[in-house]
Amino acid sequence: MQLYNTLTRAKENFTPLDAKNVRMYVCGPTVYDFAHLGNARPVVVFDTLYRILKSHYPKVTYVRNITDVDDKIMAKAKETGEPIDSITTRTTKAYHDDMAALLALPPDIEPRATAHIPHMLTLIARLIEKGHAYAVEGHVLFNVPSMPNYGELSRRSRDELIAGARVEVAPYKKDAADFVLWKPSAPDQAGWDSPYGRGRPGWHIECSAMAKEHLGETFDIHGGGLDLIFPHHENEIAQSRCAHNDAPLAKLWMHNGFLTIHNDKMSKSLGNFFTVRDLLSIAPGEALRLALLTAHYRQPLDFSEDALRKAKQTLDGWYGALRNVKDISVDKTIPVPANFLAVMDDDLNTPQAFAILHDLASQLNKTPDSKTKSAFMNAANLIGFLTQDAEGWLRGSSAGSMDEAKILALIAARKEAKAAKNFAEADRIRKELLDGGIILEDKAHETLWRRT
Ligand code: AMP
Ligand code: ZN
Repeated sequence: MQLYNTLTRAKENFTPLDAKNVRMYVCGPTVYDFAHLGNARPVVVFDTLYRILKSHYPKVTYVRNITDVDDKIMAKAKETGEPIDSITTRTTKAYHDDMAALLALPPDIEPRATAHIPHMLTLIARLIEKGHAYAVEGHVLFNVPSMPNYGELSRRSRDELIAGARVEVAPYKKDAADFVLWKPSAPDQAGWDSPYGRGRPGWHIECSAMAKEHLGETFDIHGGGLDLIFPHHENEIAQSRCAHNDAPLAKLWMHNGFLTIHNDKMSKSLGNFFTVRDLLSIAPGEALRLALLTAHYRQPLDFSEDALRKAKQTLDGWYGALRNVKDISVDKTIPVPANFLAVMDDDLNTPQAFAILHDLASQLNKTPDSKTKSAFMNAANLIGFLTQDAEGWLRGSSAGSMDEAKILALIAARKEAKAAKNFAEADRIRKELLDGGIILEDKAHETLWRRT
């Protein structure tokens, strides 16, 4: 398998550190609000990687954290009066439900930052002891000049580092690029006792501590969105390497490109976002998943309702091909076609994989046999598609449109009209159904239907 490594800026052969247990860490959500579709892109991308890795190796340990202590969460609690615990529990539940609707498998371990404060404090103490961090005025800061090779991931110059980090220029800092490991909390703010006073962790130290606790000092793959390369991942590397005798944090760093709207990054601050929750009320999760994987994961992906409609139509076509051969059984032992595996192993080339699924669907429409159907289903299932019942998919939910009893009654009436050679009436009924959003497909012995 070949994967692009942000650290080396090249595609590399993937060789796990331990072939019996591939270990990967992906930065998870800060839980204070519903996830938007941009936040869902890394989830779906790394879920796809997880599925492919699981098909190659006996065990994959996938860790994705929950950031449940953060200034944005505290601000929300202050603004709404809702207790922090209630915000984070409620939002975590919504996140789980939304990501499950996108057919993303849950990670093996989902550590919460607030359950790892002692681990963070241990790491901070070690960094101070080794001369990489210092405590001052209730803060602990990482001293950037103490690490000669700081900046290897983002490859930024020192000036760019300082400007890009947008860190506070505080008088107590030894260097403008120094970043926070621990900061003081006011009495009415969330905080934990520590040798530096009551306070809370900085964001970067959370991931270094949780990754170490659940995956060890060095693991295989670390992932997240492009915006995390700097400063978040750069700082994770600095903290972990300096605390762990320069052991690399991850061998391979992977970053998904941005989901955009009219070419602007979808983000909360720009206000140009759709929540996954809202989109799920207009389209099935599987269509959103397909839309999120239509571009290669490293490329930007512009989202529109039209793109979502196309994704839904593609799935209608694929499920339609399956329904046409509903009496043919699927053999789970028929291997996934080699060309499909090859493109997925080539740095997760999902656009190519979908082209192959298209070909398989057309082949199935022409040659309805068990081998073709099985190859098609097994390939699609591998990356989280076509896992539903075809009939159920095509008939969809009746919310707001014609109910099933009425549809079946009209189909029966049309059949009678045809038998009586009253073709005008049969056509009128077909039109009535079409106006109600129902498409008919006449087969040799029956009439199939689906919602538009
Ligand atoms: P955040 O909650 O902002 O830390 O984001 C959670 C994850 O979503 C991170 O991996 C981000 O890189 C990623 N992310 C946020 N916005 C976008 C976007 N518009 N496109 C792709 N990934 C994004
Ligand atoms: Zn992280």
